[in-house]
Amino acid sequence: MIALLTKRRTSLLLTNRYHFSMIRDPNCPFCRKLATPPGWPADDMVWTFPHSVAVLGPWQFYTGYCLLVSDRHATELSQLGSDRAAFLAEMATLAEAIGACFQPHKLNYELLGNQVPHLHWHLFPRSVVDPARLRPVWFDLDRADADPVEKERLETGTVPRSESVARLRAWLRANGAPERPAQ
Ligand SMILES: [Zn+2]
Repeated sequence: MIALLTKRRTSLLLTNRYHFSMIRDPNCPFCRKLATPPGWPADDMVWTFPHSVAVLGPWQFYTGYCLLVSDRHATELSQLGSDRAAFLAEMATLAEAIGACFQPHKLNYELLGNQVPHLHWHLFPRSVVDPARLRPVWFDLDRADADPVEKERLETGTVPRSESVARLRAWLRANGAPERPAQ
């Protein structure tokens, strides 16, 4: 019995160790995008934090909308172990940058992963002039899937994409955001 319990405990430890050490999953679309060079357009790359990358997202009706993608493959925060606090701090730093650069009425922080189960934050700045401001963005974004006019509306912001990226980079640099050394 004791041998059985010991064996089970060892198996659990090995399972956890596997999760904690897993950096990339070859079957995961975000892991493939995180390869070098990154799969996102260079012009959309906002910042490379030690534990995550910040990318300007497609839906710039929400001016300054960014994705923050964990550098290592994990599906839940509980799998990040000792990296979790740093990952959360990087998200908060990016949120602060978006707030400072674009002064949204409110930021929405979403960590979903239903479609791509690799930890990534959606940081959506919300505006008082958005008629749907009281709802999550996903109702409008679902409509954009089937409606090209709606898609263009939601992809178009009041600030050019290049300027949004430049503003965010400048704020992060000026405020000493942690940055992963170039490899
Ligand atoms: Zn992944």
